[in-house]
Amino acid sequence: TRQWRLESRPVGEPTHENFDLVTIDRPEPGPGEVLVRTLYQSVDPYMRGRMRDAESYAEPWDVGDPMKAGVVGEVVESRYDGLEAGDVVTGELLWAEHAVAHGDDLRQVNPDHGPVSTALGVLGMPGVTAYFGLLDVAEPTPGDTVVVSAAAGAVGSVVGQLARLNGARVVGTAGSDEKIAWLTDDLGFDAAINYKDTDDLAGAVAEACPDGIDVYFDNVGGPITDAVWPLLNVRSRVAVCGQISIYNATEVPTGPRKLGKLIESRARVEGFLVRDYEGRWGEALDRLSTFVREGDLHYRENVVEGFENAPDAFMGLFEGENVGKQLVEVAEY
Ligand code: NDP
Repeated sequence: TRQWRLESRPVGEPTHENFDLVTIDRPEPGPGEVLVRTLYQSVDPYMRGRMRDAESYAEPWDVGDPMKAGVVGEVVESRYDGLEAGDVVTGELLWAEHAVAHGDDLRQVNPDHGPVSTALGVLGMPGVTAYFGLLDVAEPTPGDTVVVSAAAGAVGSVVGQLARLNGARVVGTAGSDEKIAWLTDDLGFDAAINYKDTDDLAGAVAEACPDGIDVYFDNVGGPITDAVWPLLNVRSRVAVCGQISIYNATEVPTGPRKLGKLIESRARVEGFLVRDYEGRWGEALDRLSTFVREGDLHYRENVVEGFENAPDAFMGLFEGENVGKQLVEVAEY
């Protein structure tokens, strides 16, 4: 069986040289553990932080070690009461075709409730991030103008739709015309801006938000946040979810200077981590799966086939190649 290991730490954009594909003996589950065959592996922007040898909210990976990933897989062998061969589970496993995990660290996925891959996207970590980041941190009220960046991504696409279900006017930014069309034609966004196709981003955001901005759900930072900032309304809320535009930066541009805007607007800027909501996943997943089932919440998955293509799928996140959740299909279910 094969696994991907961190060969070296990237400087700037990750490259193929940073990843090493190795073949190993299939691991054996110990007492309380199960052996899982990966069906889908997630690749996520936060993994870039774990490739770096620096303190961040996620522990750095060691060079030479297998990398971790959210996985949906099938139990092959179980030494855990409550799981048996054939069960579908999800949890943090490895960039690997097979991995062992303790049964307590896995959550069972019911294949009758829809495609099992959704446990890594709309009905998994990204969906839960969108749910609590929007509803708990940004607290939109009906009539608010909500702006979300990386709006066609896994988190952003859920944020925008939840905001709309909450009665907000929703504006998204994304990096291709295909994404813009998906947002406005299929997801019900009131406006969407292709930030790669405008030389006046500030003007485009202002035009899309004639009443200013009450909520900004920030996935990217950088120039998009700069364009949003002057439009923050009195008592607006900024939920800082991610800053992907600088994850590959070797030198981070000088930090926020336009804080005067916060005095005038009395805006609240708050970062958050989905892992702080660990005890409340059930609540979010219940609501999200109801929305999906009733047709109120749409999702897309960008599936790259083949375990050997996992690094490409990961690197594609920084090029905006994914519409919706980026996944790697490792084996057929
Ligand atoms: P996405 O599915 O949104 O994929 C990443 C997207 O980011 C790309 O598709 C691309 O879309 C956009 N992007 C890439 N580079 C840039 C850039 N330089 N400038 C602007 N946009 C860029 O990923 P996720 O939904 O999984 O994650 C979204 C954000 O949320 C990330 O920043 C991630 O780190 C963060 N996150 C935070 C969590 C938390 O607990 N705080 C939990 C989960 C995610 P485009 O075409 O628009 O450029």
